[in-house]
Amino acid sequence: MPQPEIKICQNCKQQFIIESDDFDFYKKVNVPAPTWCPECLMVRKMIWRNERALYKRECDLCGKSIITVYKPDLDNRVYCHPCWISDKWNGEEYAQEYDWDTPFFVQWRKLFGKVPKFDLFTPRDNPDSAFVNYAGWNKNCYLSYSVVRNENVMYSRAVDDSKDALDCLYTIGVELCYANIEGENNYNCKYLLRAGNCVDCAFLFDCINCKDCFLSTNLRNKRYVFENVQYTRDEYLKKLEGIDFGSASTTADLRERFLQKIRERALHKFAQMVKSVNCTGHFIGSSKNVRNSFDVYRSEDCKYSARLIDARDVFSSYGVLKCERVYESFAPGVQTYNYFFSFCGDASRNVFYSPLCYSSFNLFGCVGLRNKQYCILNKQYSKQEYEKLVPKIVQHMNAMPYKDKKGRVYTYGEFFPAELSPFAYNETIAQEYFPLTKEQAIEQGYEWKDPERKEYKVTATPEDLPDHIKDVKDDIIKQIIGCAHSGKCNEQCTTAFKIIPDELQFYKKMNLPLPRLCPNCRHYQRLRQRNPLRLWHRKCQCAGEKSDNGAHKNTVSHFHKKEHCPNEFETTYAPERKEIIYCKKCYQSEVV
Ligand SMILES: [Zn+2]
Ligand SMILES: [Zn+2]
Ligand SMILES: [Zn+2]
Ligand SMILES: [Zn+2]
Repeated sequence: MPQPEIKICQNCKQQFIIESDDFDFYKKVNVPAPTWCPECLMVRKMIWRNERALYKRECDLCGKSIITVYKPDLDNRVYCHPCWISDKWNGEEYAQEYDWDTPFFVQWRKLFGKVPKFDLFTPRDNPDSAFVNYAGWNKNCYLSYSVVRNENVMYSRAVDDSKDALDCLYTIGVELCYANIEGENNYNCKYLLRAGNCVDCAFLFDCINCKDCFLSTNLRNKRYVFENVQYTRDEYLKKLEGIDFGSASTTADLRERFLQKIRERALHKFAQMVKSVNCTGHFIGSSKNVRNSFDVYRSEDCKYSARLIDARDVFSSYGVLKCERVYESFAPGVQTYNYFFSFCGDASRNVFYSPLCYSSFNLFGCVGLRNKQYCILNKQYSKQEYEKLVPKIVQHMNAMPYKDKKGRVYTYGEFFPAELSPFAYNETIAQEYFPLTKEQAIEQGYEWKDPERKEYKVTATPEDLPDHIKDVKDDIIKQIIGCAHSGKCNEQCTTAFKIIPDELQFYKKMNLPLPRLCPNCRHYQRLRQRNPLRLWHRKCQCAGEKSDNGAHKNTVSHFHKKEHCPNEFETTYAPERKEIIYCKKCYQSEVV
């Protein structure tokens, strides 16, 4: 068995450990061990994934107006999706001969600049949907990103198999829900955080299988609980009558009280894991041997990854659905196998350094190919030529590596350098998961995009909006509403927004006030309720009969009796955070 090794990350210069089973994986898929730590690897990939910084352009083939992630001033050719998948062009037209006098990454970037790209990443159809990116099989969805198999979902991210949902983040199978975060199978619920199988509830944290509950935490199988107190049906309904959900000011107060309660009084399990074996990370369901990973569902043998569904043997990757053997990649599409240092693909096999390629096999350093095999830099080779040439190129990448502005060296086994990305740091999901200020980003050598001067003619400020949804007239859909942040935040604020008819109907039906923030600011507001993609080693905060800070008094005697709980764990809660974090055993003694 290989010994674990301590290395210094080329990027952040911090120590990191390559564990013995990591070496097993690298050997199995035949890649060198990484020279960057897992977090730096994740950031480097994310800088290539722009989901929501969208621009108006024209399709460079048919002239139709499109919305795309590529800025108009880039010299890239961008096609609408129907043109891109049509027979009117062929990626082979851009073929390049391998040049042994130039580093591989320089040659690849030249190709990447020339080949036409699709407007948004939608490998599978999304009928009647607009402004959806990294999306597949959605029907009638709007302004949503990283979404799979939904219907009537708006302004959401990382939502799957859901219906009639708005402003959600990381939910599976929810219906008629508003502002649910990390939720599963909820129905007619608003403002839930980490709740599952709940019906007709509002403002719940960490609740399972509840109906008719309000502003409560850590509930299991309950009904008619109001602020963590059990009532009769009549009492509950009477108390709920006093809550004016349709009012923006009432809702803002409730939200504040809810967040305070979560911070100060709720018990937090060290990690959210359901039906999972031998896993570390957070928000993992029905999985096995998934380590140091986040937002994982039905996956096995994965590590250093996030947003996985039905994934097998996936290391250091993001956004993987129904794929196997994926390393240092994101969005390989579906049914992809053996996918390395690549992104935005679909139904492919044995792909290396070849983003934006669909239904292809045995590619190295290609861009934008469909139904091809044995290509290098988009040039067609015979099987024999390809198999002879690839090892030579790997050697060449090591003998003549790419060096970036900061002196970081990219040999074979490194993902594309961030400085070759067409996107600025704050246009990508790197800013969502690992937020930086402009100064920090520039200091770390990243591009930064200053907010554009928007010329929106704002016709209503947030103060102009009626406090209550019942007073909102139908002509609100004609207004251009100024965002309360007016571009002063660091959250891709669009400064103004509109209400669409389906959305207005949803607010009226659900008795929700109009939003005061633009969709991006609302998204970042929700992101702040999630923990970072990072693990800290910590100790259980159960001091014996109460929590360390005294705020929670245990209701039963724990296995450790009056002594402090000895258990330690990996958690996404940073040590300086105020929440009470319990190990699995102590938590299960209290929350039943
Ligand atoms: Zn690092
Ligand atoms: Zn905004
Ligand atoms: Zn404990
Ligand atoms: Zn305990």
